[in-house]
Amino acid sequence: MRITCEIINDLLPLYHDNVCSEDSCKLIEEHLLTCGKCRDELKQIDIEIKAVKNTEEVKVMNNIAKKWKQDRWSSFFTGTLLFSIIASVGCLVAYNIIGSYVTAEGFLVEPFALIPLAYLFGLSALSSGIILGIIALKRRMVNTK
Ligand SMILES: [Zn+2]
Repeated sequence: MRITCEIINDLLPLYHDNVCSEDSCKLIEEHLLTCGKCRDELKQIDIEIKAVKNTEEVKVMNNIAKKWKQDRWSSFFTGTLLFSIIASVGCLVAYNIIGSYVTAEGFLVEPFALIPLAYLFGLSALSSGIILGIIALKRRMVNTK
């Protein structure tokens, strides 16, 4: 089978991106040695791809990627905030159900350290809320620019 320029032109984008098979690469390289028209076509593909990298479309894609990254952090801290609130309230409810007592020496005895845990989760909820607020403010400042 004769390899025509049309076949090579179909394969050139794959060759340019280094994703064609070894045999196809050899075939294309042999053809390129003898065919100036296909060499020009390969150069044209290279120029077009470099031009595409600087277009608006790529900028939009980069913005989407950036926003997605920001949304990941927002989601993480929203999850942490919700978990912390639920855990904190759960600790306080459990404390009220289990109960506690004060010893003769004046020490509070409660079996699962629920009060410190409730404060700890409360602190975690507070810091997550603050971070979410900072993210929202930062995003608003970027959007108004
Ligand atoms: Zn050719």
